[in-house]
Amino acid sequence: MLAIRKTKAGPGGLSVDDVAAPKEAHSTDVLVKVEAAGICGTDLLIYKWGEFAKRMKLPTILGHEVSGVIEQVGSDVKGLRPGMRVSLESHLPCGTCYTCRRGWAHVCPKTRYPGVDFDGGFASFVVVPESVCWPVPCGIPPLQAAMMEPFGLAVHASLEGSGVSGLNVLVSGCGPIGLMNIAAAKALGASKVIATDIHPLRLTAAAKMGADECINATEESVYKTVRSLLGERGVDVAIDYSGQAAALKELIQSITHGGELRLMGVPSHDILLNLEEWLFKGLIVRGLHGRRLYETWERSTSLLVTGRVDLSSLVSHRLPLSAAEDAFEMALNGQSLKILFEPNGTCI
Ligand SMILES: [Zn+2]
Ligand SMILES: [Zn+2]
Repeated sequence: MLAIRKTKAGPGGLSVDDVAAPKEAHSTDVLVKVEAAGICGTDLLIYKWGEFAKRMKLPTILGHEVSGVIEQVGSDVKGLRPGMRVSLESHLPCGTCYTCRRGWAHVCPKTRYPGVDFDGGFASFVVVPESVCWPVPCGIPPLQAAMMEPFGLAVHASLEGSGVSGLNVLVSGCGPIGLMNIAAAKALGASKVIATDIHPLRLTAAAKMGADECINATEESVYKTVRSLLGERGVDVAIDYSGQAAALKELIQSITHGGELRLMGVPSHDILLNLEEWLFKGLIVRGLHGRRLYETWERSTSLLVTGRVDLSSLVSHRLPLSAAEDAFEMALNGQSLKILFEPNGTCI
């Protein structure tokens, strides 16, 4: 079968190889025939060989945003059977550490990731533990099912803390997950959703996903525009996907006293922030990662299956695995929204 592998340490180092397909699933594992698999920021980090990637043993098949149909189950699998469509959770927590036992498995320090710590889904077939398979109801088509992992981040960011219902929400950074967050926040009852980014293409998409106002941060001050829209009150919640110091500074100014800043975007280096303003405003700052296992999946599924959120317009490219190099370059230069590979041909 064809598979996209990271074969060499350092930037680039991708190769599309013909490798032996896994034939069997043992014990609690499941063999999945991949329908669609999305490129995510973590894959780009691996491509660029950022710090996080250096834990990898090469070669490894990439890909952790995956949907597919179960081909075979191991002898100890209890809840799944061949023919079921599944979407994959990308975190495989240890299940036994203090964090996992407190119910915080989504931030388990010993988490392993498909496509990083073992072979992932940029291939015709993937073998994964039963525990990371989420059964997908037939109302959710394969392409949307492949986006449930990143959508889960957006739903998680919308539900944590005071949630979004009846609140004014500012989403900073309109890459695919920021765009999903706009739709999730609207569907979960946010009053006004304001989006900000520096790319016009992404701001156009933000409006399509339901943003009430879109601010191009290269042309106007986010803080001043929020003030002109909402007055002194500002936004109740700001969710950052940019990880940029300049954006965070404006968000902190834009949030109401006692409001919430939720951090999703990972800064690439240490950044300097004025904590004095943060402190005197009584801001609640939350670092967020992953999705609640599996409460967030339950909530995400109902948003998609009822049609309250439709992610299909976020797919900008559907490509075969052989187009890996072009796909990664497109994802890097910001001229795409969600890029999905279809390893076994076009999905319907
Ligand atoms: Zn991801
Ligand atoms: Zn753990």
